[in-house]
Amino acid sequence: MLAKLTAYITDFSHFIFPHNCEGCGTDAIQQHDFLCMKCIAQLPETGFENIDENPIEKIFYGRLNIQNATAAFYFSKQSLIQHLLHQLKYRGNKEAGYFLGKMLGYQLSKSQKFKDIDTIIPLPLNPKKELKRGYNQAAIIAEGVISIFKKSLETKAVIRTVFTETQTHHNRINRWKNMDGVFAVINPKAIEAKHVLLIDDIITTGATLDACGNTILKSGCKSLSIATIAYTI
Ligand SMILES: [Zn+2]
Repeated sequence: MLAKLTAYITDFSHFIFPHNCEGCGTDAIQQHDFLCMKCIAQLPETGFENIDENPIEKIFYGRLNIQNATAAFYFSKQSLIQHLLHQLKYRGNKEAGYFLGKMLGYQLSKSQKFKDIDTIIPLPLNPKKELKRGYNQAAIIAEGVISIFKKSLETKAVIRTVFTETQTHHNRINRWKNMDGVFAVINPKAIEAKHVLLIDDIITTGATLDACGNTILKSGCKSLSIATIAYTI
């Protein structure tokens, strides 16, 4: 009886608040799901969370002393991953970020490489950007991650200090110079002797993660790993 009633209420609210898959638009989807099963099955998972010396770890060779690194999905133009990240960053769609974070959380929770993570830190966003957007997209992703991968979340220990110009037009070398002193650890106690997992939405050159990661390592954490939603070359 109760199940029938719940189903009735679900159907009824579905009628009032139509709920569709963010990928293909089908309404053959559970009330609290974000994508349909078919779209989830088609997401381009990398499998990097179980692969040593994967392409993400290689990005940091000689630059940042990481324990492990992974990216959940391959990024390509016009893809569903691009759409979801766009929704998160430019359309105020936090649900997209939370969903992607959950997907990453499932991968991390099944991986041996990430089992001794102590705490998760989302890459701090430039304060001006965060004010404009109203939230830090990496923090939304991190909340999705910890809903599955049960670790502590630390959002106040590391801050971003200065405004950096958009980096698109700078070359690789200049990006490094620009990132000097951008991050600061204001509460070293929160990361002391811990294995920290630094989280961001997408990795390209890794310059920003590199700068933040080095700042965290210098402040006395035990070890550092990195995980992002997407990977683009
Ligand atoms: Zn779908």
